[in-house]
Amino acid sequence: MRRAIYPGSFDPVTNGHLDVIERAAKLFDEVIVAVAVNDQKRSLFTADERTALIAGAVGGWKNVRVSWFDGLLVEFAAAQQASAVVRGLRAVSDFEFEFQMALMNRKLDEHIETIFLMPAEKYTYLSSRIVKEIARLGGNVDAFVPASVVAALREKLAAPAV
Ligand code: ADP
Repeated sequence: MRRAIYPGSFDPVTNGHLDVIERAAKLFDEVIVAVAVNDQKRSLFTADERTALIAGAVGGWKNVRVSWFDGLLVEFAAAQQASAVVRGLRAVSDFEFEFQMALMNRKLDEHIETIFLMPAEKYTYLSSRIVKEIARLGGNVDAFVPASVVAALREKLAAPAV
């Protein structure tokens, strides 16, 4: 059983993430999309909301599961008996950070390989951050995220800030 973990903030999941998940699902017997709950970034959506939005979007894909983790990625991967970590590479700007993380994770656990997947070109400029920014300014994000995420963004951004 070849199992991979695709970790990230997914705040929220975009069509770029889904493109990477689809590619990974063709390469591995099982892909676990893992929401990082304790990272330093302040998220718009809670971990539960982020997980539910991904689950809704990948519901029909039979070898994809959604989970979350709050410790070291390599420990989560080992506990799930995964042999690989999948990350998406959009542009050279992603490279330095991803390269550093991949080598550090290898240092922490040499049994887990990091695999980089490139999305379709049309998604190379897409990020959760830019989607949130457009949505916040009232722009249309229909082409960038699943319909359930469009609705969730609308609801979240309409709610008064607490
Ligand atoms: P993180 O906070 O860990 O960077 P993200 O949710 O932003 O989490 O992204 C998770 C992974 O997906 C990262 O490897 C990121 O480079 C990749 N990714 C994000 N957006 C895209 C996209 N449009 N196309 C391909 N990969 C992407």
